[in-house]
Amino acid sequence: GQITRQDLQYLEILGHGNGGTVYRTFHQPSKVIMAVKVIALDATQEEQRQIMAELDILHKCDSSYIIGFYGAFFAENRISICAEYMDGGSLDGYGAIPEPVLGRIIVGVVKGLNYLWSLKIMHRDIKPSNVLVNTQGCVKLCDFGVSVQLLTSLTKTFIGTNAYMAPERILGGEYGIHSEIWSLGLSTLEMALGRFPYLPEGSKPSSLVPFELLQCIVNEKPPTLSLEHFSPSLIEFTQQCMQKLPKARPGITALLQHPFLLHYDDGGEEVIAVWVRRLLEQMRIMQRFPSDTSLASTSSSV
Ligand code: ATP
Ligand code: MG
Repeated sequence: GQITRQDLQYLEILGHGNGGTVYRTFHQPSKVIMAVKVIALDATQEEQRQIMAELDILHKCDSSYIIGFYGAFFAENRISICAEYMDGGSLDGYGAIPEPVLGRIIVGVVKGLNYLWSLKIMHRDIKPSNVLVNTQGCVKLCDFGVSVQLLTSLTKTFIGTNAYMAPERILGGEYGIHSEIWSLGLSTLEMALGRFPYLPEGSKPSSLVPFELLQCIVNEKPPTLSLEHFSPSLIEFTQQCMQKLPKARPGITALLQHPFLLHYDDGGEEVIAVWVRRLLEQMRIMQRFPSDTSLASTSSSV
């Protein structure tokens, strides 16, 4: 059945984004824990109907690499989108991810993208905060652009630029799978390094991207990883994805055949699961003993 505001018990805030807030909720009738994203939206009745109709395709998305969708509803001038809750959260808060874990994560990301592209859906917002993991070792994509009307209503209020956009998209050129491959490469690079490669250590790209940063992405040679710390196949993977010329980037077939992905496409979800569980446990301990910083140093030796 339809999900309503009254059926949901709001438990805690999972995070704030550019346009909305995500809550962990309990759906009473089904007894299911859901992640509900609430976004303020100025949309007419007609636009609301359009958004609901377009979001309907999410019911047909059936892949273990795509976040599950339970439904959406409007209340006042807000839309609530109810999705599968992932207890590991998103990958923007985990620092540098060890290569054996990262490799298996990227395998999941690419399979998820391949699934969306096969349905002619463009993700449009690939970045570490839109890749979710759980303690079962699943990797799932969220926040992809299925509703043109929702994107339109959102860009009325928000600036449509982000730091993960490919150079050609920043320049207003044609957008396609090649542009998504750039964002995949940049996200991989960020998760390997534990920081956004175009910015100094400790700074995160904000939603209001400074002109200088965009200029740098468009004009400079793309950042790469050093051979000292990373395997040649990972380095080559990010370099191929982050070529300035869109046509020079690998297509989906070449991507799926890349040695970095072939090497880690071994059904090794357990590697991810162990890593997620360990980090969550460390965070739990640090919350209990905020002054004990000795644990922070052990997290990088996974
Ligand atoms: P932006 O708004 O720029 O896309 P964002 O992706 O960080 O940034 P949101 O999509 O609003 O913002 O998500 C906020 C946070 O909520 C995420 O970073 C993530 O940690 C958490 N989150 C989102 N969806 C889920 C989910 N299904 N399960 C668990 N946590 C989630
Ligand atoms: Mg998001």
